[in-house]
Amino acid sequence: MAVELSMEKLVSLCKRRGFVFQGSEIYGGVGGFWDYGPLGVELKNNIKRAWWKAVVQERPDVVGLDAAIIMNPKVWVASGHVETFADPMVDCKQCKRRFRADELLAGHEAESAHGHQVVAEELRCPECGGEMTTPRMFNLMFRTYVGPVDVEAEFTKALVEVSGHSWGEAQERIRRLKEELDRATVYLRPETAQGIFVNFENVLVATRKKLPFGIAQIGKAFRNEVTPGNFIFRDREFEQMEIEYFVRPEEDEKWHQHWVEERYRWYLRYGLRQEHLRVRRLPPEELAHYAKDTYEIEFLFPMGWAELEGIANRTDFDLRRHAQHSGRQLTYFDDVTGQHIVPYVIEPSAGVDRCFLAFMMDAYHEEEVRGETRAVLRLHPALAPIKVAVLPLSRHEDLVPVAQRVWDMLRPHFMTQYDDAQSIGRRYRRQDEIGTPFCVTIDFETLQDQAVTIRDRDTMAQVRVPIANLVQALKERLGHDP
Ligand code: ATP
Repeated sequence: MAVELSMEKLVSLCKRRGFVFQGSEIYGGVGGFWDYGPLGVELKNNIKRAWWKAVVQERPDVVGLDAAIIMNPKVWVASGHVETFADPMVDCKQCKRRFRADELLAGHEAESAHGHQVVAEELRCPECGGEMTTPRMFNLMFRTYVGPVDVEAEFTKALVEVSGHSWGEAQERIRRLKEELDRATVYLRPETAQGIFVNFENVLVATRKKLPFGIAQIGKAFRNEVTPGNFIFRDREFEQMEIEYFVRPEEDEKWHQHWVEERYRWYLRYGLRQEHLRVRRLPPEELAHYAKDTYEIEFLFPMGWAELEGIANRTDFDLRRHAQHSGRQLTYFDDVTGQHIVPYVIEPSAGVDRCFLAFMMDAYHEEEVRGETRAVLRLHPALAPIKVAVLPLSRHEDLVPVAQRVWDMLRPHFMTQYDDAQSIGRRYRRQDEIGTPFCVTIDFETLQDQAVTIRDRDTMAQVRVPIANLVQALKERLGHDP
């Protein structure tokens, strides 16, 4: 039976079984940063592999890229992030807590529907009821500095020393340091997309791709979110899986539809439930400054419907802006018409961490088995962190060497776990709870017939298979994906 898994239960399962831990937990954590444990890193890698397989490996028209996280800061001026990548923020004058004004206003939507439109100036602190500051824009990009000089420390020192200098001298020193500081300032990328745009020409020359074609990338992105939360849904460090798909301008709408359908199908293919997925077309007032049209694939998270992936038509905005700012001609030579054109871009942009959350949510089931509740993660075999568990019936000295030999044989082929602690029933339950599709049990009969039992996570059915055929039998059952 599918049960609605609460966020608390999921967080606790993730911690207990080693999927996700709070970042720097022993020091009290730090908001918006999470660490993926031994099972979490497997699931995350499998999600990324499944995405890469669908959008790069299986397609003739998409190639991959892995660009640097830190880029020339001019990139973020050209992309508009320095100027506009900001959230409106309000502080409580009383308790000093900080909130996103748009989120607080959204909370008052019901009142607005009854005739009274709540405006930012009327907001009250949801924690203590205190008066709020007027909204200020807060840039979401993390800043750091490159180079061997600690300009920031120098700058602070200069400020402290101001009293020792004449005002003119101090001003001059601060001005020079400020220039140095600006020159050394870089940003942790808030999206992977720009790494693709700035490599448009490199990839085009290197691969000689013809339109339409795409460049895909998976990588970390950083946003100094005002209100991180809902577990790994909104982080300050997260991973994105993005494709920039370059098309002829007149074909943009056709390819936009294509990508919305492709991506929707991918979520179903890997196990999300149709009733938990919906596609929402953004109304014009919600569109980003670069977008002509955007669809969001939304998932029904415990806190409600929210974005899993955005699929935007970014037009030729980025290539034109980078051409303007870099002085390079970022065009595509159309050898049919003999003209240079600036392609339009369709961008499917998904978050690995949000996919992780959604796949965990929909895989979780609870059922009654012989008067006990069995919790089982019915993850797609390609996503399951552990594919096969090796379970000797007991720690009997005759069984252990055989079980170890079976384990040695399986490790080169699959992610495995060896478990010999407690009863076999308990060990099956432990594997069910982490989504292991198959358990291989070695018992006393094995010593006679050189065969083992494969037990299926979903049906709990057991079959006997000769050790000699075990790898093949498991591969067939797991399908081609792992
Ligand atoms: P939201 O409206 O939820 O803040 P967004 O519209 O800013 O998201 P995009 O800029 O479209 O998000 O980013 C593309 C994808 O990256 C999102 O669909 C989401 O899956 C993921 N993503 C964005 N911000 C975060 C975050 N802070 N934590 C985790 N994933 C994120």
